Parts: sequence; structure tokens; C-alpha cells
Amino acid sequence: MIVSAVPIQDETSVMRIILLGQPGCGKGTQAQRLVAAYHIPKLITGDMLRGAVEEGSALGKMADTYMRRGELLPDDIILSLMRERLSAPDCRRGYILDGFPRTIAQANGLDALMAAEGVPLDHVLLFEVPDAESRKRLRTRRTVEHRLDDIDDTVLHRLDVYRRATLPLVKFYEERSLVRRIPATGSMDEVHRHICSVIDGS
Ligand code: AMP
Repeated sequence: MIVSAVPIQDETSVMRIILLGQPGCGKGTQAQRLVAAYHIPKLITGDMLRGAVEEGSALGKMADTYMRRGELLPDDIILSLMRERLSAPDCRRGYILDGFPRTIAQANGLDALMAAEGVPLDHVLLFEVPDAESRKRLRTRRTVEHRLDDIDDTVLHRLDVYRRATLPLVKFYEERSLVRRIPATGSMDEVHRHICSVIDGS
């Protein structure tokens, strides 16, 4: 088995990845770097919803109330959003999912969508970071991005929602041997290299 720190996927490779981890674990930063390394799109539900809020669409108005409280939107709304996005031509060669699925119902919905397309899931990368570190990162992000849901009370609630609703996905995907644990406390470069070696070494 060859383990490389440099991406060895080429323009023709196909890969479907889920990034899993609590708020502030650095998924978003790494998703961006994986796009550049593997030439597949990142589908970030939080960004899609923030876009809808900015547009002032019906979805955006609804999303705004949930997001300000740090609550998850209903599964059926998220699944119909993702059903449409995943059927776009740019997803044919794969994708990086960040922020989806976030519940077992969403994971089952994703399974159904992928089964209908006849495509497999390749990796679930679980970003591991201590609570104190992710809260520190979210405080920094708040000063840069001014996200309304990065205020302290909402952050605590989002961490709680993550534990209750999203953490069960680890077991869900571990049962299929898809989970790869990524220590996410190092520098951005170190974490990126680690992820590439996990992807390319499998
Ligand atoms: P994020 O940027 O991933 O932290 O997401 C910000 C907010 O968007 C979350 O706190 C939820 O309100 C909403 N959201 C994003 N993704 C999902 C999802 N898969 N299911 C439900 N709500 C979501």
C-alpha cells in the first residue's frame, strides 16, 4: 500500500466524502483545500442556507430563524435541498459534503439518494478537536466573519445539538468501516497532509 502526503487522484478520479465534526473543528477550511487537491466540488449546507438567507427566499426566511437559534432545520427540507444539489452535473465525479448529513434521518436519506444513483460513499472523515479549541476558533471566526450563530450561548447550544443529533452518525458509518479519524488540532497544512494520506493510502 502506498501512503502519499501529496494527492495522487487525477482529473478522472471519482470520490465521495463526508466531513464530520463539531462546529469549529476546521472542516470548512479543509473542504476548500480538498476542492483544490481533488477537483471535486464542496457542498456546504451551512453556506447554501446562508446564501438563501441573503437572497431573502422563502427557504432563507425559514432557515434564518433556525440558524440564529443554532437549531437544525427539518430533515425533509435539507433532504430536498440536497437531492437537487446532488443531481447537478458537477457532482458526477464526486463531492465533499460538509454539514450534511447531520442526523440519522439525513444519513438514511443520503443512502437512498446514492443507491438510486448507484454510487458508493468512499470516506467519512471525522475531525477530532477538544471543545475548548473549537470554541476558541469560533470566537476568532466571529470577529472575522460576524456570524450571528457564533455568539457564546448559541455555540454551546450548537455543540450540544452536535452531540445529540450528529454524533450518532459516527457509529452509523463505523458499522460500514467508512470512518477515518483525523486529529484536527495541528496546523492547516498538517491536517491537510494527514487527510490526503488517508484518502490516497486507502
Ligand atoms: P454550519 O455552517 O454547518 O455550522 O451550519 C449553520 C447552521 O445551518 C446550523 O446551525 C443549522 O441551523 C443549519 N444547518 C446546516 N446544515 C444543516 C443540516 N444538514 N441539517 C439541518 N440544519 C443545518
